[in-house]
Amino acid sequence: MMLPSFALARPRRLDEALALLAEDGASAYCGGTEILMAMKLGLLEPRLLVDLKHVPELRGVRVSGGELVVGATTTHRELAADPDVGRRLPLLRGVELRVGNARVRAQGSIGGNLCFAEPRSDVTTVLAALGASLVLASAAGRRRLSVGEFLLGGYETALEPGELLVEIVVPGLDRVRGVHLKQQHSERPSVSVVVVRDRADGSAALAVGAVGEVPYVLELASPAEADPEAVAAAVDPSDDLLGSVEYKRHLTEVLVRRALAAAGNEEAA
Ligand SMILES: Cc1cc2nc3c(=O)[nH]c(=O)nc-3n(C[C@H](O)[C@H](O)[C@H](O)COP(=O)(O)OP(=O)(O)OC[C@H]3O[C@@H](n4cnc5c(N)ncnc54)[C@H](O)[C@@H]3O)c2cc1C
Repeated sequence: MMLPSFALARPRRLDEALALLAEDGASAYCGGTEILMAMKLGLLEPRLLVDLKHVPELRGVRVSGGELVVGATTTHRELAADPDVGRRLPLLRGVELRVGNARVRAQGSIGGNLCFAEPRSDVTTVLAALGASLVLASAAGRRRLSVGEFLLGGYETALEPGELLVEIVVPGLDRVRGVHLKQQHSERPSVSVVVVRDRADGSAALAVGAVGEVPYVLELASPAEADPEAVAAAVDPSDDLLGSVEYKRHLTEVLVRRALAAAGNEEAA
C-alpha cells in the first residue's frame, strides 16, 4: 500500500488553517491514524493535507467553570495524563487509557476520533453519555452541536466543507460519576457501554457504542429506569466479522446489565 502524493501545509494560526481548508481538495490532518490509512487504501484522495498540530488554539485541556474544554488536537495520551481529567472526570480518563494501543493513543486525537466518525468508538460513546458539546469553526463563524447532532452516520458528520472541530466541552466536572465497559476481540471495540449519573442537571444517561453506526443514547432520570433487555432490542447492530446481530445484542444486554450494577443500580444486576 503506497501513499498517493499530496501537499502538506503546517499553519500556525486558526485563521490560516481555515483559509487553507477552504481550498479545493484540502483536508484536515492531525495524528494521521485514520486518514493516512484511508489514503493508502485509495478511499480518500486529498490534494492538500492541513496539519492542525501546530495551531495553539486547537491544543490542550482547560477548565472553565464546571466544564472541561478539550482542544480538538489533544491526543488520547495527553488527555489520559491530564491532572484535571484524572481528578475531576475519571470516567473520561479511564476510556482514554483503553483506546486502541500505545501508538494510537500517542498519535490519535480526540478531534480525529470524532471527525472520522468510525462507528467502533469508545470516545464518541462516552462523550454522548456525558452530554458533551462540540464547537465548530469556519471562515463564516462558530457553531455548537451535541454529539448526536454532529454524528450523522458511519463516517458521516455535520462538518461543512472548510469547517473544523475546534474544541469539545464536557460538563459535570467533579460531579458526574460513571462506568465504561467494553468487549473487544480485535483492535477496536465490538460493544462499548457507558452509564453516567449525577450529571450537571442531576440526570443520568446510558450510551451503547460500536454496535450501530452512531452511539445509541438513552436519557434517564436515574439508571434504575433502564431495562437491559429493552436496550439490547433497541440497538441497531450489523452482521460483520466482529459478530452476528444476535451475538452483539446478547453482548449489549450483558454489558448494560453489568454497567448498571456497577453504577449502583443493584436492582438491575
Ligand atoms: C488500530 C486502531 C485502534 C483503535 N482503537 C480504538 C478504540 O479502542 N476506541 C476508540 O474510541 N477509538 C479507537 N481508534 C480510533 C482512534 O481513536 C482514532 O484513529 C484517532 O483518534 C484519530 O485521530 P487522528 O488525529 O489520528 O485523526 P486523523 O487520521 O488525522 O484524521 C481523521 C479524520 O478526521 C478529520 N479531522 C481530524 N481532526 C479534525 C478537526 N479538528 N476538525 C475537522 N476534521 C478533523 C481528518 O480530515 C480525517 O478525515 C483506533 C484506531 C486505530 C487505528
